[in-house]
Amino acid sequence: MEELLPIGEFSARCGLSAKMLRTYAAAGLLTPAAVDRESGYRYYSPAQERDARLIGLLRRAGVPLGEVAVFLRDPTADRLDQWEGQLDDDLAVRREALAAARTHIATATPVSLPAAPGHRAAERGECEMERFTAGSVTDRGSVRPTNQDAVLVDDRVFVVADGTGAGGEVASAVAVETLCAAYGADRTRSGLASASRRAARAVWRRAEAGDEPPMGSTLAAVAVVSEDWLAAVNVGDSRVYRFSDGALHRLTRDHTVVEDLVSAGAISAEQARRHPERSILTRILGIGPDVEPNVVDVSYTAGDRLLLCTDGLFNEIDDHEISEVLSTVAGPEAAAVQLVRRATDGGASDNVSVIVVDVA
Ligand code: MG
Repeated sequence: MEELLPIGEFSARCGLSAKMLRTYAAAGLLTPAAVDRESGYRYYSPAQERDARLIGLLRRAGVPLGEVAVFLRDPTADRLDQWEGQLDDDLAVRREALAAARTHIATATPVSLPAAPGHRAAERGECEMERFTAGSVTDRGSVRPTNQDAVLVDDRVFVVADGTGAGGEVASAVAVETLCAAYGADRTRSGLASASRRAARAVWRRAEAGDEPPMGSTLAAVAVVSEDWLAAVNVGDSRVYRFSDGALHRLTRDHTVVEDLVSAGAISAEQARRHPERSILTRILGIGPDVEPNVVDVSYTAGDRLLLCTDGLFNEIDDHEISEVLSTVAGPEAAAVQLVRRATDGGASDNVSVIVVDVA
């Protein structure tokens, strides 16, 4: 028979106190290998050390006892990923609540969650970093009753989102806030990709909650990931462009039916602009727990301008007009204001959102 360890020795080996071991035994997680009938003294097998350490790690991660029990029967990396995703989502919710609390104590108007994303309320914003100056504008347009777009300019990350469905306003706010909070925890290229997946999951959870109207959202974001590189991500048809040496380059690829047709050579880019199915998205946040974003590496040099926008901009004005504004209007906020003004002058049928980022 295998040598058994008294509870004190087992406790010292696995780093869990005797009290914790008794709790886990009571919960059916880690049953002692033997109990002294007379004294009630407990013994554990050395082979149980592995499970004991795993339980300790999961408890430190805040996983409830009941979920630990299920996990021990079928331990998978996927389940760990799910818990990790929940952590990010929970963190995003807590950050959002704290931000709302900050607004709440600073203003006379009561702030409620989640309908009050501060970044949407501030319709214009300016943010300066060492090498980057950003200006943003989001506008309801003249036809839609609400603005379902959201923009967020934060330390080293810029995000636009275009909500869809009756709950689109909530979806786009959840998307930008979650991406931003998650990116703050890992400011790398893969961190940005993972942050956009977290955003997708957060919107999906919200959509699945069932007590809100149908919702989805596009997403486009740029982050400063190193001295020389930016990373851009997108889902749906919100876009990122770089304006460099007088030329406008689109950096992102739309997830739309017409983009696929253009790629296949079936229609021209000009035909795509007027195509009746141009608003049909092939990928969007909110339709499933896992949405894979496009990720692009972007080099940059002094004098470049980046443009993030929702479809309300490029459906109203063409590349030529966008370039004209970017080459003539100094200052990112003035350029953003001018772009949105051009798009809305003709009676914009959609919400319009723009972020312009200047590289010094
Ligand atoms: Mg739109």
